Amino acid sequence: MKTAIIGAGLAGLSCALTLEKHGQSADIFEQGKEIGLRYDIAELMTPILHAPINDSVKFFSETYDIHLKPASNVQKIYVHSENESAYVEGKIGFINMRGKYKDSYEKQLAQQLVHSKIHYDSHAVYENISKEYTHVIVATGDPQDTQQIQPYDIALPSAFAGAIVKGDFVRNEVHTWFNNDFAPKGMGYLIPHSKTEGTLVIVYPQYEDEWLEKRNEFWETMVKEASRTLNQELIIEHEFTISDYMVGKCHYPRIGNTFFVGNCLGAITPFLGFGQTGSILSGIYAALDICGQGDYEKLCKPLLKDYDQSLVLRRGIERLSNHQLDLITKSLHNQVVRKIITQPNLGVLKGLSHLLKPFTSK
Ligand SMILES: Cc1cc2nc3c(=O)[nH]c(=O)nc-3n(C[C@H](O)[C@H](O)[C@H](O)COP(=O)(O)OP(=O)(O)OC[C@H]3O[C@@H](n4cnc5c(N)ncnc54)[C@H](O)[C@@H]3O)c2cc1C
Repeated sequence: MKTAIIGAGLAGLSCALTLEKHGQSADIFEQGKEIGLRYDIAELMTPILHAPINDSVKFFSETYDIHLKPASNVQKIYVHSENESAYVEGKIGFINMRGKYKDSYEKQLAQQLVHSKIHYDSHAVYENISKEYTHVIVATGDPQDTQQIQPYDIALPSAFAGAIVKGDFVRNEVHTWFNNDFAPKGMGYLIPHSKTEGTLVIVYPQYEDEWLEKRNEFWETMVKEASRTLNQELIIEHEFTISDYMVGKCHYPRIGNTFFVGNCLGAITPFLGFGQTGSILSGIYAALDICGQGDYEKLCKPLLKDYDQSLVLRRGIERLSNHQLDLITKSLHNQVVRKIITQPNLGVLKGLSHLLKPFTSK
């Protein structure tokens, strides 16, 4: 058996690690010159989108012997709408670094590999790789690569603007902004890396050309709004933009011995565009199948169900006006509502669906 993995990101590396744990190895092709030349940002890994996993770090460690050290845990998540602010408290998840950072999750995964070789500076082409290997893992993080091979339904193309910001932050508190004036049908968020540094981002669907043209304007408003809400002047460093970031789902998790993992599968939740947990899981599942320990398509079913549920939620939130977003934010002051959202066994996706129902069922 000869396995090739195209892409040394979360899904590809988790797949290689799991193969190793079952006595196999893989050739990993990475187009970058080293691990982590992706986006240098903080991301949130929140199990709340993947019920019943309550602590993803513990889950990966105990169930799959894959060890991840987050930068911090999130205890409070603030929601700010045009005229309201509220927060939800609890075990909301973890903050982790991505990209060039010393402890980025891709670097942590790569360090755990023993036998698999990573071929850097290798932009792999599926047609060539599939001739040389018995098994191929498509893990490029780019759904357009899946689309070369099979149908892939795009739920939304997304645009980002963001930056590393300096300020005075509480490490385990994340802020989110839902305001159509500067993140139409999307959101802004601040994830602290430390007490003095954080990632500030706006992300929204690219449904209208005008929204893309106005990205700088939106971004400037986000920075002002974040400074106002946090009551401080944020210092902006390393600004970045991303366009055409596709969120979607493929039709076939595997075709023959080709496995689609991570974003190439659709292991992402369209509601907020979170894909870390699903990407790692799908990489693990593909390896388990190759090692005769499971059936990839069956294992992926819960992930794809999360995707579908989350897409319903996304379509719901896309219909909300700023006034309705205010009402929802206000409702978060209610203890019962908070409980519904953070109840571990219910899962936040279901909890939020309940919360949005009155607004979306009309
Ligand atoms: C700005 C931003 C913020 C995000 N925030 C969050 C968040 O807070 N929480 C969350 O859960 N998710 C978040 N996501 C989504 C999450 O990052 C992705 O779902 C996840 O990284 C996908 O993992 P992957 O393994 O599929 O791809 P990646 O981790 O992107 O890895 C793909 C790898 O493949 C390599 N590659 C690509 N093409 C080739 C090729 N042809 N040959 C060789 N190598 C190739 C790339 O260089 C890269 O190293 C965010 C995404 C973005 C863009």
